[in-house]
Amino acid sequence: MLLQVEDLSVSFGGLQALNLSSFSLARNELRVIIGPNGAGKSTFMDLLCGRTKADRGKVIFDGTSTLGKTEVEIAELGIGRKFQKPSVFPSLSVYDNMLLAVKMEKGVFASLFFSMTSDIDDRIRDTAVRVGLHAVLDKAAGDLSHGQKQWLEIAIVVLQHPKLLLIDEPAAGMSDRETEKTGELLIELSKQHSVIVIEHDMHFVKQIARDKVTVFVNGQLLTEGTFSQVKNDQRVIDSYLGR
Ligand code: ADP
Ligand code: MG
Repeated sequence: MLLQVEDLSVSFGGLQALNLSSFSLARNELRVIIGPNGAGKSTFMDLLCGRTKADRGKVIFDGTSTLGKTEVEIAELGIGRKFQKPSVFPSLSVYDNMLLAVKMEKGVFASLFFSMTSDIDDRIRDTAVRVGLHAVLDKAAGDLSHGQKQWLEIAIVVLQHPKLLLIDEPAAGMSDRETEKTGELLIELSKQHSVIVIEHDMHFVKQIARDKVTVFVNGQLLTEGTFSQVKNDQRVIDSYLGR
């Protein structure tokens, strides 16, 4: 197992946002998490990447306990997070946004003395091909379509070579064509990384759910299974799909 979580919980004020008894992820698995708004899905990713501190619990990632570690330390261990809201620099080109991501990875001080090598240029171009942005490398990120911006965000995470990619609602706001391309991209990425995706769009979930789907409701894990097992589970229909 790449990731093992036990008894993980966090409350905000009086509200228990997450209380997860057990969750595990195999290497090279592409896991989809679904569930109603407020179910604790994003909070789970916040806890995994160290953005939010757990009240208690156990998280073992690739043999190392991550609870109590900072976001930077966790990123260095190999957990990369793409957030729901776009955060690229709109006036910079796609290429420069990606270059900046490589520089940041090297640390602020190192980046002051950063020199561009052909190795880094290759890495950026290869990643651009993987995410389908090779034709728009010189375009300002602000002029990209919504879908392309999301792929750029994914590229920025991928450039850090994470073992585990956390991707929160990638298809939100995308056209059907962009959604389908995003699904193909995630399937492709899962050949080299483990991936956890939070998603609402059940057509999209069906497209990418080649492994298990996990359902969160009220901060808890309701059930897990194949796409069709989960889709036909009466408890899932009652608490999420049927609403
Ligand atoms: P989901 O991603 O499944 O829609 P979230 O994880 O965003 O759900 O939220 C779970 C619950 O925790 C919600 O009730 C939300 O309002 C609350 N919550 C999430 N983050 C915070 C925070 N930083 N401060 C206070 N409450 C939060
Ligand atoms: Mg969310």
